[in-house]
Amino acid sequence: MRILVVEDEQILRESLKRELAAAGFSVDVAADGEEGLYAGREFPVDLAIIDLGLPKLPGLDLIRTLRAERHTFPILVLTARDRWQDKVAGLDAGADDYVTKPFQFEEVIARVQALLRRAGGWASPVLSCGPVVLDLRSQTVAVHGEAVDLTTFEYRLLEHMMMRAGDVISKAELTERLYEQDFERDSNTIEVFMGRLRRKLDPDDKLQPIETLRGRGYRFALPRDPN
Ligand code: CA
Repeated sequence: MRILVVEDEQILRESLKRELAAAGFSVDVAADGEEGLYAGREFPVDLAIIDLGLPKLPGLDLIRTLRAERHTFPILVLTARDRWQDKVAGLDAGADDYVTKPFQFEEVIARVQALLRRAGGWASPVLSCGPVVLDLRSQTVAVHGEAVDLTTFEYRLLEHMMMRAGDVISKAELTERLYEQDFERDSNTIEVFMGRLRRKLDPDDKLQPIETLRGRGYRFALPRDPN
């Protein structure tokens, strides 16, 4: 999943990027409101973290503009002061949740994960589709109760597919959402990783959890369990 961080304090911006990347996210950063607006418009953003006190374009105006332009990705607001007015103003402008500075990175990551899974229609952090179960907290996957050993990239690919289980996701979209801005993108690598992921999840070719729709993309095909 791809996260946009809009924060003008360099140390905090770099720390957020590092911690979010360590948690398995692709991260784009912007240092002021105008850069944030450009990134929000141009990049395939799954979630944005926006500081309210930003140069050039204030955070509230950035959020209002993105929402007015029908960008629906979840927005987590960072407020500098523990003032309830800022939180209300952020939520009123179209943000979904907030964290007050100073914060623990664990809290930010937990809130990001909660917003992403709710946006994907999941109430619980355990994504369960029949025999395939993915736990967002521990970043582990099991099939029929047996742990499956995935590489970081394979896990991220599966997490993205299961988060939106039932939806058709194009190869181009997967490439964009799983690689960062500067990464050399090659959609053929998605095919290679998809092949490996299928063999690990379904070595006997019985479950067929991931469907290929010719010319359209992939779909995680096992139905979601109620959660
Ligand atoms: Ca600031």
